[in-house]
Amino acid sequence: MSRASRLLAATVVAALALGLLPASATGSLSRDDARPGAVGIGDPYWPLDGNGGIDVRHYDIADRYDFTTGRLSGTTTVTLQATADLSTFSLDLLLPVTAVTVDGVPATFAKPVAHELRVTPATPLVRGSVVDVAVTYAGDPGGLSYAGERSWVVGAGEVVTMNEPHMAPWWFAANDHPSDKATFDVTVTGPATHQVVSNGRLLGRMVAGAEATTHWRSVHPMTTYNAFFALGRYDVEQSTRGGLPSYIAVSRSLPSSQRRAGMVGLRRSDEVTAWLTGRLGRYPFESTGGLVTSLTVGFALETQTRPVYPGTPDVSLLVHELSHQWFGDSVSVQRWRDIWLNEGFASFMEAAYAEHHGGTSAQQWLRDTRNDLVGERRFWRVDLTDPGAAHVFDNAVYTRGAMALQALRHRIGDLRFWRLLRTWTRDHRYGNGSTRSFLALAERVAGRRLDRFFRVWLRAPRPPAPTRANGLR
Ligand SMILES: [Zn+2]
Repeated sequence: MSRASRLLAATVVAALALGLLPASATGSLSRDDARPGAVGIGDPYWPLDGNGGIDVRHYDIADRYDFTTGRLSGTTTVTLQATADLSTFSLDLLLPVTAVTVDGVPATFAKPVAHELRVTPATPLVRGSVVDVAVTYAGDPGGLSYAGERSWVVGAGEVVTMNEPHMAPWWFAANDHPSDKATFDVTVTGPATHQVVSNGRLLGRMVAGAEATTHWRSVHPMTTYNAFFALGRYDVEQSTRGGLPSYIAVSRSLPSSQRRAGMVGLRRSDEVTAWLTGRLGRYPFESTGGLVTSLTVGFALETQTRPVYPGTPDVSLLVHELSHQWFGDSVSVQRWRDIWLNEGFASFMEAAYAEHHGGTSAQQWLRDTRNDLVGERRFWRVDLTDPGAAHVFDNAVYTRGAMALQALRHRIGDLRFWRLLRTWTRDHRYGNGSTRSFLALAERVAGRRLDRFFRVWLRAPRPPAPTRANGLR
């Protein structure tokens, strides 16, 4: 018996006993009762991101990459729950699809636009039922683009799937929005001369002829953009500190001096993770580490449990990406408009780390930064509570967000401020948070209204006046 029919059977028996179900829900749901799921989850920044009517529990991704042809092929089995009676539903995937099954039964499918895969199961899905949707695909991800992004990054002997806000549709079938988090199994087949690095824990590696298949597992919920794999030749070091396993890797495509420096840089990940744990509360995941790629990507990314860096990370970059394990990865944005909850918080932790390690005090940094930027009209015009899709990674989201937190710390005091951050990471662990819920929690922990303070720091199109109320004196 499949997972779906097992769960459905139990639910139906219980509900029938209570007299709760109409006849149509007892397994004979007709096409007239079921509706198509929406093609988007409802985020106005990217209306096709995510999908309506489904909630993904688990992704089991089995991909193969061929460096000579540039082709990626594979099957993603998406275990999802229907949140409505569905005649059809969508997933997000840019690659061409060759087959779809639902609980092993072939389904019809279509790609009405490049980003959407429309699946029509042989029988409609009953609300609450859980099914395994297996999607098989193949193509050259290098030729694909969406929302102006060409996210595929590959070199002669290395490929890394890293980008934000969108990466999943280039390598697996997804409900691609941070509000739908799930656990993951990532299995990648490539040349036996190469290694595969991904999120979570390494479960195993099997060599068959000239190919190797490597299996990684993430047991904590993850957003789709934080899932990654890197396929290349790597120097690897594994260790355990305080019971937390660490896996760090540096691309062997780099010159030897950079390889050594990369490894020296990554070795500090454990120490930084320990410092952050002291500030933010328990580390949320089953492992840590990092990866230095030889690819030219121009940014680092907080891929869950194991950030990816383009070259040797300095300590403040480690602090930034490892802070994201709490802010972004464990507590994820509800909508993309909440992005300052990721970037402002990770940037603030850089200032806090510097202060604690003999650098400038964070309050001095706040005053200096305000003075440096006071005449930058564009910087102050960004509304941090709704920056717009084109501005989610603007400097204001990072720097003004970090300034707002330091100003809040100065205004409400160290004790209350750190209690606020620890409560936030605990209450929303493995879930999502919005600006609205953070502001409400801040007022509760501070024991006073802060609406004016936050309006000035997050929304007003001008620099905050240097007053005590604004946390500047
Ligand atoms: Zn960041």
